[in-house]
Amino acid sequence: MAKYTYQTEVGQLLKLMTHSLYSNREIFLRELISNASDALDKFNYLHLTDEKFKSEDWKPQINIKIDEKDGSLTIGDNGIGMNEQDLIQNLGTIAKSGTKAFIEELEKNKDQKIDSNLIGQFGVGFYSVFMVSDAVEVISKKAGDDKAYKFKSDGSGEFEVSQVIKDAHGTVIYIKLRDDAKEFLDVHRVKEIVRRYSNHIPYEIYINYTEVTKDEDGNEKVEQKRELANEATALWTLPKSEIKEEEYKEFYKTNWHDIEDPLTWIHTSAEGAIEYKTLFYIPKKAPMDLFRADFQPGIKLYIKRVFITDKERELLPLYLRFVRGIIDSEDLPLNVSREILQENRILANIKQASVKKILNHIKKLKEGDFDIFVENYNQLIKEGIYTDHVNKELLLDIVRYKSNKVEKYTSLNDYIEREKEKENRKKEIYYIIGDDINLLKHSPLLESYNKNDLEVLLLDEKEIDEIVTPMIGEYKEWKLVDIATVEAPETQENKEELEELNKEYEGLIKIIKDTLGESVKDVRITTRLTESPSCVVPDSSDPMVSMRAMFKQLGQEEPELPLILELNGKHPILEKLKGSSDIPLIEESAWLLLDSAKLAEGIEPKDKVGFAKRVTDILSKVV
Ligand code: ADP
Repeated sequence: MAKYTYQTEVGQLLKLMTHSLYSNREIFLRELISNASDALDKFNYLHLTDEKFKSEDWKPQINIKIDEKDGSLTIGDNGIGMNEQDLIQNLGTIAKSGTKAFIEELEKNKDQKIDSNLIGQFGVGFYSVFMVSDAVEVISKKAGDDKAYKFKSDGSGEFEVSQVIKDAHGTVIYIKLRDDAKEFLDVHRVKEIVRRYSNHIPYEIYINYTEVTKDEDGNEKVEQKRELANEATALWTLPKSEIKEEEYKEFYKTNWHDIEDPLTWIHTSAEGAIEYKTLFYIPKKAPMDLFRADFQPGIKLYIKRVFITDKERELLPLYLRFVRGIIDSEDLPLNVSREILQENRILANIKQASVKKILNHIKKLKEGDFDIFVENYNQLIKEGIYTDHVNKELLLDIVRYKSNKVEKYTSLNDYIEREKEKENRKKEIYYIIGDDINLLKHSPLLESYNKNDLEVLLLDEKEIDEIVTPMIGEYKEWKLVDIATVEAPETQENKEELEELNKEYEGLIKIIKDTLGESVKDVRITTRLTESPSCVVPDSSDPMVSMRAMFKQLGQEEPELPLILELNGKHPILEKLKGSSDIPLIEESAWLLLDSAKLAEGIEPKDKVGFAKRVTDILSKVV
């Protein structure tokens, strides 16, 4: 026998699991059955493809034994099993991504009841058994091995592994229930849990128990019972009409370890040239590891109902990595290799059709559900716009933006519907990009658009918007236009006005330009402002502007943008400065006009100390 210490994170997790009041303890059974089902999936594949196992007379099944006298539950499967190393690795450490952050989060709110949704999202799997027990044994023999091993733990910091005797391959988990968990000795309760969560996993689950009855004479009769507890039909293979909503939901929760119901699902059966079935789910909450490089793929691939893999990341395009589900193909050979999977024409076909199905389904979600979708996945749709050219139109139908005219979000289509009736309206969708919605809402660049009653989209996910939006080009013949890179909406009238103003301001502009030197690309008068005295805009003729996004994509520091300082010729400040001969005052003001315009766009002034000092100087003059 050898003793081991749990990986630190596991230790912390176990402490939390055992000491937290957890309202939904019954899920430990779901998690263990789910593991057993996975183990049967894996052996099923070997049984069908590996010469070594083909001849074995094998009937996959899961057995639950209730022992009232002993106060224990035992869950056994004749699946792939684990060897010594597997037991130590799989049950002594956590391999899942995002785990550390999750546990730290839990540790912070130790005193509170753990949010069951958090646990559900995270899928603590095997460790959930310590919610009902502090004496657990896992006896396992890996298919093809001679030796069997026992893992033993009381849910504290250590566990033991020793060699034991076991006939067949597979795993048996013995759970001595704690006094407060004796409800799980009740046959009806266990049966109900199995039916609820695991009715449609593809393997039979039996419940074994002892029934004691008394006959008419008062003599006890003891009987060993064995009952099939589930239907054992792979849910995705059934016709839609035979599946209840609840069954869809539980199937999702069991297979993808979520406590919450899914937002929606899409079940398809394709017949004809290629035959396959797919069942896709969209979680209500974005999976935690969505933006981690080591995210867990959510799609399980089956071939003729035999599980093949859940490790393949591109069964769907990467931007749909939040989708959970099953693809079951009738046409692929069982012993298909990874390399073949990646370039397989049949799979590529299924992938393409699936993306269309999923996107069309999302597009038609009812309002409340659609809002939840947007809250969680809008950013991924933007990713899709950038990467999936085939479905660009569909993705542009789905993506949502904030704007200066709507409360929450608008679609591009609704933008056009609102704007198209306006007289002389150019077919242009205006947008502005930044990372703070409040700054965007009050950006000086918006002033003339607000004045002219023009809708502008406010794109506040700068990181991604800056890369994605410029390459959209057009939507329904409307061109997308970044208002920071174009002249304000001009009428003939203010063009003349502009020329006049620029002439009037020639002298002042020269002094300001000389003062600011290299800090600006140019200084000019604008009619785009109504309230603010100044604003900064990027020089759209400068190639650096479009190259900036590229630098970002390559993960390099983005170069500083050459900015143009624009001045509002009708603003009292400018009018006064124009008539002033106080050169030091003009110079001070030039810096203040530039720095405050930068701040309004969320750009830091270069000389912050200088900025603060100038503000104080001016203030003391006024006061
Ligand atoms: P998860 O199932 O989400 O990976 P678990 O903590 O439940 O996480 O299980 C960890 C690993 O232990 C599994 O991935 C699997 O490799 C192994 N395992 C658990 N239960 C069994 C079982 N009944 N048979 C074979 N392997 C198992």
